Amino acid sequence: MARYIFVTGGVVSSLGKGLSSASLGYLLRSQGYSVRIRKMDPYLNVDPGTMSPFQHGEVFVTDDGAETDLDLGHYERFTNISAKQSDNITTGKIYSDIIKKERKGGYLGKTVQVIPHVTDRIKEFIKKDIAKEDFVICEIGGTVGDIESLPFLEAIRQFSNDHGKSKCLFIHLTLVPYMKSSDEIKTKPTQHSVKELRSIGIQPDIVICRCEQTIPIDQKRKISLFCNVAIENVVETIDVKTIYEAPISFYNQKLDKQVLKYFKLKPKRGPNLKPWKQITNTVLNTKKIVNIAIIGKYVNLKDAYKSLDEALTHGGIHNKVKVNLIRIESDKLKTSKVKEYLKNVSGILIPGGFGKRGTEGKIAAINYARNNNIPFLGICFGMQMAVIEFARTVLGLSDANSSEMNETTKNPVIDLMEDQKQIENMGGTMRLGSWECSLSEDSKAHNIYGSSLIEERHRHRWELNNKYLKDLKDLGMIPSGINPRTGLVEIVELPSNDWFVGVQFHPEYKSTVENPHPLFVSFVDASLNYKKSKEDNGRK
Ligand code: GLN
Repeated sequence: MARYIFVTGGVVSSLGKGLSSASLGYLLRSQGYSVRIRKMDPYLNVDPGTMSPFQHGEVFVTDDGAETDLDLGHYERFTNISAKQSDNITTGKIYSDIIKKERKGGYLGKTVQVIPHVTDRIKEFIKKDIAKEDFVICEIGGTVGDIESLPFLEAIRQFSNDHGKSKCLFIHLTLVPYMKSSDEIKTKPTQHSVKELRSIGIQPDIVICRCEQTIPIDQKRKISLFCNVAIENVVETIDVKTIYEAPISFYNQKLDKQVLKYFKLKPKRGPNLKPWKQITNTVLNTKKIVNIAIIGKYVNLKDAYKSLDEALTHGGIHNKVKVNLIRIESDKLKTSKVKEYLKNVSGILIPGGFGKRGTEGKIAAINYARNNNIPFLGICFGMQMAVIEFARTVLGLSDANSSEMNETTKNPVIDLMEDQKQIENMGGTMRLGSWECSLSEDSKAHNIYGSSLIEERHRHRWELNNKYLKDLKDLGMIPSGINPRTGLVEIVELPSNDWFVGVQFHPEYKSTVENPHPLFVSFVDASLNYKKSKEDNGRK
């Protein structure tokens, strides 16, 4: 049986449970163990797909088409383990399954209750679809003390009872605040948080203390004593300068060692910290900068484009350059202001998006990129906008649009396919998950990927309308990536420009620290070349 590690959080939210779980996952995996990481979310949405980025940050999409919590993105980027639908569950999903079953008479006249029915369903989730994994790390969303997370905590308590302490480990992450005025580190919030956890029957085995400063040994002893945790299992985590330092920091604090010791295991090989050291070094010491504009509705919202920010950083690291993101809110980008906004950028990126607001600004920016040969990457909605811009300006279809923005346009160059037109429910009804795409020889895409067949993840409803394909092609917009099963266009590019690529999928979901995505590596490289050629021209 796999060993289960449950990660809970206390005192405040946003302490970095996801990053801690991902770092631990990496450390265990690099020492020869197979790992799965899962997330339990206490909110009532069935999945985060219907939540606005204002509420929840980005929606992460897995290969098998689940719309999940963005923490699953952290896990993948850090561990290179592809997450699955079965790795994320929400209270909403649990209740919806239970209610469906109840309506069918599946409970045989019983009263359906939180304990045991909800907790049983959570326990099923924890174990579901686990084959030969050595470790399953389960992160419980929210903070201990929240009403919503109680059934999850009760379920993990029962789980440990069912399977025994030798198979289950509880890690609790808390805040240990530093009080500047008295120059003191305070352990009381941690004591209270652990007390709360113990009151529901969970005794943490390891406490990770997030602190601005090193925790003096006396304070550690206090935490050990009051929280009933061995002193070597009081692990501190001091704010790191970059997230890529986290696995190194946890290794130095011996988190992985204590976990293995708990389960009476030895590392099968030494952890590989080299990539993290190199990356941390590049991130902290690179002086070279390239400005890339990202134009979207939520650009100023931390986490709304989390995977994209990370993928660009990965692309920068590979090119040994710091990507300086110029975040431009598409609403504010009036057509007349485009030149002013974009004059100092060496690359322009339009990310995924939904709805009409801000689209004309995006289209104007694409026109500027195309006419000035500035490297352009359009992702999903960004690609659709690039097709609209090209159709309006080059094909002369001045009313070209997506039927998402204008249902009655005579030229819906982006349109719904028949099967999408019937849809009434909003959640989970997009083209989701991994789809194949064949790349035409001699295309930029083929050159970038170095392959004829790729798989990328999707999250959208609208598609390029193939009625316009011939005209687009004849005038220079090449469909270089096609879904071999459906014939839908997945990539467009302009060979007349140095680097102008639009992709219907979301490459950012597949970029990891160790395997930066080739599209981002190439886009950052092109932006660097553009910068260099501009500087050279200026010097002439
Ligand atoms: N709104 C567009 C669609 O649904 C694009 C979605 C996206 O960018 N993820 O097709």
